[in-house]
Amino acid sequence: MNIQAIEIARDQHMARLNVSCRLCGSRLRHSLVDLGMSPPCESFLQADQLDQMELYYPLNVLVCECCYLVQLKEYMSPETIFSEYAYFSSFSTSWVAHSKAYCEAIAKRLGLGAHSFAVELASNDGYLLQHLLALGVPVLGIEPAANVARAAVEKGVPTRVDFFGVRLAIQMVAEGLHADLIIGNNVLAQVPDLNDFVAGIKILLKPEGVVTLEFPHVERLMAENQFDTIYHEHFSYFSLLTINFMATRHGLRLIDVEELPTHGGSLRVYLAHQGSDRATRDSVAELLDREKRHGLTEMTTYASFGYKAQRAKRDLLAFLISAKEEGKTICGYGAPGKGNTLLNYCAIGTDFLDFTVDRNPYKHGRYTPGMHIPVKPIEAIEQAKPDYILILPWNLKDEIIQQMHHVAAWNAKFVVPIPFVTVIDPSELRK
Ligand SMILES: [Zn+2]
Repeated sequence: MNIQAIEIARDQHMARLNVSCRLCGSRLRHSLVDLGMSPPCESFLQADQLDQMELYYPLNVLVCECCYLVQLKEYMSPETIFSEYAYFSSFSTSWVAHSKAYCEAIAKRLGLGAHSFAVELASNDGYLLQHLLALGVPVLGIEPAANVARAAVEKGVPTRVDFFGVRLAIQMVAEGLHADLIIGNNVLAQVPDLNDFVAGIKILLKPEGVVTLEFPHVERLMAENQFDTIYHEHFSYFSLLTINFMATRHGLRLIDVEELPTHGGSLRVYLAHQGSDRATRDSVAELLDREKRHGLTEMTTYASFGYKAQRAKRDLLAFLISAKEEGKTICGYGAPGKGNTLLNYCAIGTDFLDFTVDRNPYKHGRYTPGMHIPVKPIEAIEQAKPDYILILPWNLKDEIIQQMHHVAAWNAKFVVPIPFVTVIDPSELRK
C-alpha cells in the first residue's frame, strides 16, 4: 500500500468515527497522529493491581480543518481526573519562580492594586495567586480538585472548589464579582467544553479587563516531535490561529502574545473584550503569519507529523535493542505522564528498562501504567550502576544531567529520546 492509499484509508476511517470539533463543531476528517491504545498516564499501579485488567483508551489525535484545533476525543470525565489531583504546582521550584516573575510584570503592566480583582482558573495550590496577594491585589482561585484547593486556603489564598464555565461566571457576577485580570495557566488543554469556558471568561471580565492564558504551543510540539506530550488528560492542543478563532467567536480580541520556554515551548496570550480600548501589539500578527508560513493552515503539514512519531519510535527501539544485544543495562529517570505515552507507544517494558526512578515519593513502590516498570527512589541508580539512563522528562534534561553528573564514575551515559535519540556522556561535560 502506498502512502496515498494509507491516507485515503485513514480519512475513510475518520469519516466513520463521526466526531465533531470541540470548538467549531465541524466534522473532523483528519488525524494528526495515532499513538494506539494507552492507559491514563497518571494511573500508577500498586503491586497487587499488576495482575488486574487495566482500562485502555485510544490516543488518536485529530485536527480540525476549519479552526485547526488539534484534539482528542474525550473518554474520561473531568470529574474522574480532577476531583483528587496528585499534582501540586508548588513542588516545582522553577514553576513557582516563573509565576512570581509573571505576577510582578502583569501587576505593573495593568496597574493592579488594592482596587483590583484577579481570578485564576485552575489555581491549584495557590502557587501563583500568593504572589499577587503579596502585591496587595485581592484574588480568588477557582480549583476543582478539593485536596489541592485546601492547600491553597491554608496558605491564605481564597479558593472555591468548582469547575469554571458560564454557570459559575453568572453566579460570581450576581455576587458583584468582576475581574480586572483572569489567569489560566495550563488549564485550556484540560477543558472539555471550550466554548462554555471562554463564554464564562467573557461574562466575568470587566470592560477593560485582561485575560492571560498559557499553554504548550502546538507549533513547537510538531516541530520538535513532542508526540509524548499527548495524553488523555489533554483534550486540546493550540496554535495562535486557533486561539484567534476562539477569541473572535466569543467577542474577545487577541492583544498580545509571548513565547515562553516552559513545557517544551509555550505561548502566553493576552485577550481583551472586542470593543476594549487596549491596543493590539504587532506580536499577534507576526506570530499568526509565522504559523501560516510553517504550514499550520495546511492539512498535509499535520499529516506528516504521524510519520515523524513513527520514525522516533523505530530509532529509539533500534538503540535499545542494540544496547541489550551488547549486554548493557538500562534504567529510566523520571516517571512523568509523558513518559507513559512514550513507553506505551514504543512498547518499552522491563525487557528494556530494569526500573525507573522519581523524586515524588507517592510513586515509589508503584508501577507505570501499561508497561509495569517499577518506580524507585533516585538512589536506586547508585546501587544498580546501569550503563544507560533514559531520561523521560526530556524538557528537564539539563537540570537532571547536572544533578546526576556522578554517574560518570561508572561510565554511565544518558539517553534523551525526543526530538531524536541522543546519547550524552556526562564525563565529556563540564561539572
Ligand atoms: Zn474546529
